[in-house]
Amino acid sequence: MHLPKYTARVSIVLASLVVISSVIYQRYSQWEHQRNIQNSADKTEDFNPVLDSKSDGSWESSPLCRGFYKVICQGKEIVTDPTGIVQPDVRGEVEALRLYEMILHEHPSWTNEQVDEELVKRIYTPKRKRMLEEIFQWIQVRMIRLIRKQSSSIFSAEAKKLLVSRIENIRLEIPPPAQLYANEPDLFTKNDVYYESISAERRIIRVGGAYLLSAKSWFNRVFTIAHEMSHSIDPCELVNEKFSSVGYQNLLNCFQELNLLKAEQVKDRCVKNHFLGELFADWLATQIAVQALEVYSSRFKTLDEISNSVINSVKDLCHQESWLTQEVESHPPPKDRIEKIFGSHPGLQSLLSCPGEHKTIRYCTFEGKK
Ligand SMILES: [Zn+2]
Repeated sequence: MHLPKYTARVSIVLASLVVISSVIYQRYSQWEHQRNIQNSADKTEDFNPVLDSKSDGSWESSPLCRGFYKVICQGKEIVTDPTGIVQPDVRGEVEALRLYEMILHEHPSWTNEQVDEELVKRIYTPKRKRMLEEIFQWIQVRMIRLIRKQSSSIFSAEAKKLLVSRIENIRLEIPPPAQLYANEPDLFTKNDVYYESISAERRIIRVGGAYLLSAKSWFNRVFTIAHEMSHSIDPCELVNEKFSSVGYQNLLNCFQELNLLKAEQVKDRCVKNHFLGELFADWLATQIAVQALEVYSSRFKTLDEISNSVINSVKDLCHQESWLTQEVESHPPPKDRIEKIFGSHPGLQSLLSCPGEHKTIRYCTFEGKK
């Protein structure tokens, strides 16, 4: 007796399509309007992240060096890096809902479960699933290495053991079968990628179907999944563990000195919201994303390719307007996330051939401010 549930689900999907289509239109026209104002007010700025080359063809520096946030969030809507693109979230959601609608039309007599199974088969293809699994393992290895290589004055042997075991315990849950997300079937058509600590032994990462359709760039997937995996060891997740370390203290002190974190947010210790955890996850994801860009660097042919890969790594951090207040309060503002936490990483600055001033930029590490 699937009919009532099935009919309700169909109505929800079709209604979502109508609503979401009008949201897209409104969002794009707002975005276009803002961009026109910005461009006319600031004509000397070149927001187009193209190669700044000298007449002899050698590279100068990427336009990103003049302002990450402006180039990433107010520049081109979609850029292509050697591994793919990152589309606005809503486009992936529409694509997923359209797939759902198509399956309903093709198989009107199917049960809800059959429709879900087919949707999952079309979205989470073996190739996409394999790519996610490889990225997940790639990140896991590097995160563990980052912890293990710290000196014993930063993390004691016990602290390292705890952090490493928490990272090792994360499982990536990717359908099929559709049953895997039985408690939240809406995730197939959503952009969310999230971490959840189910129990001491079970920590999971789940990936929304729409995310796979909107973010095809390998670099974006590395940053996004690394951010979620970082939550397994963020200061808020560790609140109930008997854990203290000089490394975390150094990092939090440094965030405060750089005005990324307020004293009351440290004092709050994750009671009001998880700002501390989100800031930490952005920072740790940056360490991994920069390694991904460095590993790939020998394959980049132009500075344009590097710039676009950097842009796509965090392109989807630009917008928090549609978020709930609680979510907004839990995350640093997009400009801080993109410019101060991600963009000022010294490895990124040198990859983009940013002028020498970046050597004076101070950046937070487990050892304090560098
Ligand atoms: Zn997060």
